[in-house]
Amino acid sequence: MKIILVTGASRGIGRSIAKTLARNNYKVIANYNKSFEQALDLQNELKKEKINIDIFKADVSKRNEVKKMINYIINKYKKIDVLINNAGIDQEGIFQDISDDEWHNVIDVNLYSVFCTTQEVVKNMISNKSGCIINISSIYGTQGGACSVAYSASKAGIDGITKSLAKELGPSNIRVNSIAPGFINTDMNNYLSKEEVNKIINETPLQKIGKPEEIAKCINWLIEDSFTTGQIISINGGWNT
Ligand code: NAD
Repeated sequence: MKIILVTGASRGIGRSIAKTLARNNYKVIANYNKSFEQALDLQNELKKEKINIDIFKADVSKRNEVKKMINYIINKYKKIDVLINNAGIDQEGIFQDISDDEWHNVIDVNLYSVFCTTQEVVKNMISNKSGCIINISSIYGTQGGACSVAYSASKAGIDGITKSLAKELGPSNIRVNSIAPGFINTDMNNYLSKEEVNKIINETPLQKIGKPEEIAKCINWLIEDSFTTGQIISINGGWNT
């Protein structure tokens, strides 16, 4: 059975990925940081379907916490087949107002976490000569987003990791890809007014916003695939910001 770590899995896209993969007979370890209740709720929801997942608390921007989580997985399951770096935070506000603290926080949670978690996992994947790493970046990483400079920089950085690591780890049979969502209906976008959401819908060729399950479906395909690496896969209804 494939062992899969999904970071930031208590809600939103990560929760949907964890559910989809667990239902498709993968063994899922769902990481959470602050939202124990939501993570437990996810675990219980799947238990009702007779599916067992592990939940593990770790702030993925902290090396020591990530190390503990990876050690727990390797001790219990001996391997990690798939890493999904999903955890992330938003940042909104004009460029001149971004403080050093805000900049470092966004970069730590969104980008350093990918570097650090991947580094801890990849040792095991290299010795197994097999692995799949999927990073959730964003349409802002490729297109940029006004009033989201730190966020966009973090996501562009993730895509840089994806493309470089795919080249470095390909000979070890490890595939590395990014999924770059457009607008997906999650709590992360709750701050937008109905009018702002409608504007995005109007600008989107498919005339709708995305659902977390639509990202999860692509993740499932990417895990089962064997020849796709170094790609930034946009799932955005045709929206180009
Ligand atoms: P969300 O806010 O619902 O979920 C983010 C998850 O990350 C939460 O469970 C949160 O607890 C977790 N998290 C945050 N900081 C963490 C940390 N330090 N350690 C561990 N977990 C942490 O948002 P979402 O929309 O589900 O976002 C998931 C990913 O998709 C993010 O990386 C986000 O940038 C990306 N994304 C989302 C959209 C969108 O429109 N929703 C678009 C493009 C990219």
